[in-house]
Amino acid sequence: MMKTASTLWRDNSKQQVTCIACGETFDREDAREYDKHGDRWNREGKSFEYLCKPCHRECCHQNRDGLEQVLVTAGGGRTDRKTFLRRFCDLMIDNNNLQ
Ligand SMILES: [Zn+2]
Repeated sequence: MMKTASTLWRDNSKQQVTCIACGETFDREDAREYDKHGDRWNREGKSFEYLCKPCHRECCHQNRDGLEQVLVTAGGGRTDRKTFLRRFCDLMIDNNNLQ
């Protein structure tokens, strides 16, 4: 299933990706690759998360301490997007309350 999707995407110059932070869909070329595990070639499934430019900017302005941990804890890449985003938002709110 993943294989089929990537084969289709390869023929499509206008790849659509989804921002992991806000859930917006946008063109691949407008995205920022975000790899929460740091090592992009050694990931489960070897797929990337993406952030749209506004969210990428926001992440860079925020203290990144704990962001990777939040993404992993929220189940990024291992749970469905809706569940992940809900958990991610909850965790970010918790983090902000601690600061
Ligand atoms: Zn976004």
